[in-house]
Amino acid sequence: MRIECPHCAAAYDVPDSALSPGREVRCARCAHDWAPVPAPPPPPAPRRSATAPVQPVAALSVGQAPSRPEPLKLAREAAPDRGNLVLAWIASLLLVAAALAGLWVWREALAEAWPPLAWLYRALGA
Ligand SMILES: [Zn+2]
Repeated sequence: MRIECPHCAAAYDVPDSALSPGREVRCARCAHDWAPVPAPPPPPAPRRSATAPVQPVAALSVGQAPSRPEPLKLAREAAPDRGNLVLAWIASLLLVAAALAGLWVWREALAEAWPPLAWLYRALGA
């Protein structure tokens, strides 16, 4: 569930299981304590149906005694997937290496097709 600090508008992605009615949370940015209600979703359409069901906000603060607030983690501070980052770097480097290898392997054909390349190859000592 996505919740938003009513004090500073920081947004958090919190698993539903971590929230219970009446339970308070603490904003990691401004240390404000509050009992979260679902943040309004981004507007999917310019017009909203007047018959759309409304979340029973009041029900969230009824019943159980609030437990001790726990600091939250900012949603946008979630750690990036390091494995995918490394793979992306490797793929990028392989692509650049392949392009350079192609420029070298077919240098004569390329210089013939595009004469300015011949100057580049001469400058590189080929
Ligand atoms: Zn806050």
